[in-house]
Amino acid sequence: MIGLTQPEVSVWSERVTVALGMNPGLFSGPGTNTYLVGTGPRRILIDTGQGRPEYPLVLARALERAGASGLQEILLTHAHVDHVGGLADVQAHFGPLRASKLVVHGAPTLPEITAISDGAVIETEGATLRAIFTPGHAPDHLCYALEEESAVFSGDNVLGVGTTVIPIEGGDLGLYLASLRRLLAEPPGRIYPAHGPCVADGHAKLREYLAHRQQREDQILAALGSSPEAVPEIVRRVYTDVPAVLHAAAAHSVTAHLVKLEREGRARRAGGVAPLADRWAAA
Ligand SMILES: [Zn+2]
Repeated sequence: MIGLTQPEVSVWSERVTVALGMNPGLFSGPGTNTYLVGTGPRRILIDTGQGRPEYPLVLARALERAGASGLQEILLTHAHVDHVGGLADVQAHFGPLRASKLVVHGAPTLPEITAISDGAVIETEGATLRAIFTPGHAPDHLCYALEEESAVFSGDNVLGVGTTVIPIEGGDLGLYLASLRRLLAEPPGRIYPAHGPCVADGHAKLREYLAHRQQREDQILAALGSSPEAVPEIVRRVYTDVPAVLHAAAAHSVTAHLVKLEREGRARRAGGVAPLADRWAAA
């Protein structure tokens, strides 16, 4: 997502307006997309950005652009900092709004959160959202279906550009692939990602993601030898199509694949002092 730009505020449909989190970076692209959803005077906000001081002003401009006067409530996709870091600022500027997310063991806890779970329906004028439990990138990840558009707010599960990182801490590739398949069972339509541009054909993107992971898995399996090797060495051989600056992140993805393959009896590890220091071989 290097070099990708996006306006601070964009209107992507009659009921979806984007306010950019103003936190550009190597992995966040132009920044986190936070979404105003609905058609009435008070909108639902999905995610709150990272906590950049200029974000509340951008959000106020987005509300004005959308023709709304305030927020109804806040929904969070997961507790990574670039999604929840702006929560306190938003509540300070727009009132003590209810903020809801999935609460699970193993995910960071946030103060004053209303717990919602898989299948929860949240309504506002002009929009009906339904929570879809989609762990793998994070253990507490929810996507939100937008029933009126057969669309999905995908959080970090599907991005506008590039692929999702499966972090060693809290990530699980097996669960992630199951979550992608679960999203494929939703009606085809747009995907509104947490980073990057809107995806017009959500089903095509999901199939592309699943094929990409399968291809990486095949490459990693082919790269494993009979004697154990360190992850960076495997990364160097598999990620020939990716700039070296991204190899540290790729090490997380490769480790996620190896952990999955180990679980399936197809890879074995010679222990290191930390997860990334493990050495891996074919089983
Ligand atoms: Zn995330």
